Amino acid sequence: MILQRCTGCDKRCETKPFSTTFAWRRADLVRVAWRAILCMPCYIAKVVPLDFDMLADARLTCPSCHIDTEDDFDAIYVTSFIPSYGKRQIQAPFCGACAAHYRIWVQEHAVLLQDSVGAAGGPYSDVLPEEVLRSLGITTGGAA
Ligand SMILES: [Zn+2]
Ligand SMILES: [Zn+2]
Repeated sequence: MILQRCTGCDKRCETKPFSTTFAWRRADLVRVAWRAILCMPCYIAKVVPLDFDMLADARLTCPSCHIDTEDDFDAIYVTSFIPSYGKRQIQAPFCGACAAHYRIWVQEHAVLLQDSVGAAGGPYSDVLPEEVLRSLGITTGGAA
């Protein structure tokens, strides 16, 4: 038993918790990041469904409702520190409705990280997740 409580279910964690950050861009394009401390059942329930291998030539699909989001996704970026594994980064191409639904859960169960919001040029504001995607050859939305 660990003293720390899971921010997902508010129970004390049975095993070392998974420190997980959820990040996305708001409608006004400001990046926000939220930190959760998740027990293993909460991690399995909320994060593992987002963590699947995409085939290189497959179209993107929403990890929640599985509709095609190739041309219009609303991404949520998840970074987890998994005990005895290390860092795991996930990019989830949600559809708009499922992204909104997922973000409500995050906002209710995680803590907003003020220091990395980057509204005024914080340390993480120069590299946008979209730019990372673009550098990997993935175009986002319809913009050239
Ligand atoms: Zn939990
Ligand atoms: Zn969806």
